[in-house]
Amino acid sequence: MEMELTRATVDPKYTWDLTRIYESDEAWEKAFAEVKEQGDAIGKLAGTLAGGKEAVLTALRLEDELGLKLSCIYTYAMMKQNEDTTVGQYQAMLGRAASLANEVMAKGAFLTPELLSLEDGVLESYIADPDFADFDASLKKTLRLKPHTLSAREEQLLAMAGEVCGASENAYDMLTDADMDLGKTRGEDGKKVKLTDVRLLSFLGSRDRAVRKAAYTNVMNGYNKLGNAIAAMYAGQVKGDIFNSRARGYSSCRESYLYRDSVSEDVYDSLIDAVHGGVDTLSEYLRIKKEQLGLSVMHLYDMYVGVDTGFEISMDIDEAFETFLEAVKPLGEDYVADASRALPDRWIDCYETKNKRGGAYSTSVHCAAPYVLLNHKKTYDGLSTLCHEMGHAMHSFYSNKHQPSAKADYTIFVAEVASTCNEILLSEYLMKKYEGNRAAQIMLIGHLLEHFRTTVFRQTMFAEFEHKAHKMAENGETLTRDSLCAMYYDLNKLYYGGACKVDKEVSYEWMRIPHFYSSFYVYKYATGFCAAVALARGILSGDAEKLASYRKFLTLGGSMPPIEELKVAGVDMSTPQPVCEALDYFAELVLQYRELLSQED
Ligand SMILES: [Zn+2]
Repeated sequence: MEMELTRATVDPKYTWDLTRIYESDEAWEKAFAEVKEQGDAIGKLAGTLAGGKEAVLTALRLEDELGLKLSCIYTYAMMKQNEDTTVGQYQAMLGRAASLANEVMAKGAFLTPELLSLEDGVLESYIADPDFADFDASLKKTLRLKPHTLSAREEQLLAMAGEVCGASENAYDMLTDADMDLGKTRGEDGKKVKLTDVRLLSFLGSRDRAVRKAAYTNVMNGYNKLGNAIAAMYAGQVKGDIFNSRARGYSSCRESYLYRDSVSEDVYDSLIDAVHGGVDTLSEYLRIKKEQLGLSVMHLYDMYVGVDTGFEISMDIDEAFETFLEAVKPLGEDYVADASRALPDRWIDCYETKNKRGGAYSTSVHCAAPYVLLNHKKTYDGLSTLCHEMGHAMHSFYSNKHQPSAKADYTIFVAEVASTCNEILLSEYLMKKYEGNRAAQIMLIGHLLEHFRTTVFRQTMFAEFEHKAHKMAENGETLTRDSLCAMYYDLNKLYYGGACKVDKEVSYEWMRIPHFYSSFYVYKYATGFCAAVALARGILSGDAEKLASYRKFLTLGGSMPPIEELKVAGVDMSTPQPVCEALDYFAELVLQYRELLSQED
């Protein structure tokens, strides 16, 4: 058996170099103390903003500087803690960093209301003033929120109500993270194992149908045992949304959430409409899968089983990194050159080590190259995760390089575009590389189809669910377990009923989706994926203009509203076109998949 790596035994060249942020923990402590002092300075600027341009610039610059330093302090502590989550010193540093950020934020909380209380036309003149170039995006955002910003006293009340509105989410997290017991289920070896929500996915991948059926049924029923309580928690979440949206004068909860991103509600509706148009193709795909698995009836717990073609990608990190660089060649020589620094310059923490945080992510601070955390496995998923995270990292790299710190951070609406685009480039690269290799093609296309199903179809179904639930409550209907279950069941019938037997247990599935406590968030996964598909296809077409537009997009950070940034990239998400194009690609892939499977070995 392989020895488990620790921070002491892992080759340093496969770990990230955090000295680019702070030389040592002592340097971190010094920065911490400095920010604590500066935090007081920003508090003292309260009440000065009516004093004119210089006063406003002073406050904005100080806020920006503090934000920058805080992000270094927090990110360093987080990454240190993630290296080994059991080290008390870094747990404490992370806790201190979070408190410091809260403290400074509270001291700077006067900024927005004070800016909004300036005389009419003043903010507009600042936005047009080149001296405010670094801050135009945030000032525009502030101005945009003006019609929905209340008096200082009312804002204070809303802030105080914030914790109350968050009570449902806290209760739900406590219930599902700590109190809930989903019992045991039988694994492939016949032994009973404790069932957790995280383990469900691996059980669902089992080739043994009895195993996946039992795990699925146990989890759904486990949630349903607490169904009345969970429905009450979700109803509380929705009521909080209604309270806030009505208090701020929005016409609906959905508008209140989309407005922040400058996204119109049409985008949401046209996503749902377009995806409904693709449901027949989804059914076609699932019928192929059913046939392939040799099932006479396909249940929802059968959908997650992968297709075993005997082909697997097995690459250590060096080889995976070389493959990534090959796959992103269509993005241009300089992109490849910049990205190729990531491994030798130690942006990446590659391997699983004892007590390291699981999963993968990319993060960055404005003053240094980005970082990527991996737990690399020698599988296709491992390779694909590397490409995904490097997509985020390069987006940050170019945004940090081209934007001042105040507008370098991109929003969630565009965040998954660069990462997904890289994943698609990888698929297409490998499909070409393994041309004629039927097993490889089936594996690669199969992965992509599953990605479509779980991102475009599933997330849009979730988006539809939360929109309907909010509308029900806004119309005065009470959200109960039964009404929510019935609505969720019907949605599943609509999306999967064409190819699958929709068992009653799925009615309870909404209870286990934590994202519903971040309202109107999941649709961004679907729109982001569709945008990425359209962009990747444009890049692969060899059209130099399309490539240049996409590369420009990577430099924009958060300097424009997300829909505008995507227009620069070359996709107009305010029309259904990109979603339809992505679904056309899905249909092409389904066709290819069917043909491949109908061929003899
Ligand atoms: Zn991502």
